[in-house]
Amino acid sequence: MNTVLDIENISFGYTKDILLFDNFSLSLKAGEIKAIVGPSGVGKSTLFELILGHRKPLSGFIRSSSFSQVFQDPYSSFHPTYTVREQIKEVTSMEGYELLLEKMGLEEAFLDSLPHKLSGGQLQRCSILRALLMKPKLLLLDEPTSALDNLNQLDIMKLIVDNLEGMGVLLITHDGDLAAWCADEIVTLS
Ligand code: ADP
Ligand code: MG
Repeated sequence: MNTVLDIENISFGYTKDILLFDNFSLSLKAGEIKAIVGPSGVGKSTLFELILGHRKPLSGFIRSSSFSQVFQDPYSSFHPTYTVREQIKEVTSMEGYELLLEKMGLEEAFLDSLPHKLSGGQLQRCSILRALLMKPKLLLLDEPTSALDNLNQLDIMKLIVDNLEGMGVLLITHDGDLAAWCADEIVTLS
């Protein structure tokens, strides 16, 4: 199977004396879901920053295929003055969006709204829609379901699990049950 993410022996810390990662390795193949769990402040979001290339490891290397990402707070992932549709169109062809829209319980009218007109749950589903439409090889989810209510959480993760062809998923979550249900492997940072 295709490796979509390869992290080898990385070390990283924001300051020299505190290393968040010390010889940390992880690899992910298409079709796999790995969950990253661990207490607040342990470095989960930093790991994504490193994968995204926003930060450089002090040693080791990271190779990643094309990715898209979903953050915890959907309002910070959309520009406030453009409609949701305009912002999705900017990064995707929108090919096949109608089916996903329906599966995600979203309405066309949501797409023509400004982000702040939608609830956190509605907008987070739009953010996941955008990420999936980009057809990434690697999907990075940082606490994506905390903006969703309990009912939506499982439905949305089911949808992602059902659309894994050619894609690997790295999921940061506090939700042990969710991780146990969907992940092939749980990586605990401590
Ligand atoms: P998590 O997502 O697991 O809660 P983070 O990766 O956000 O943890 O943060 C890990 C640690 O690094 C925390 O102690 C945090 O305060 C620190 N940290 C995060 N971002 C920065 C930054 N830009 N500069 C310095 N320290 C940071
Ligand atoms: Mg975090």
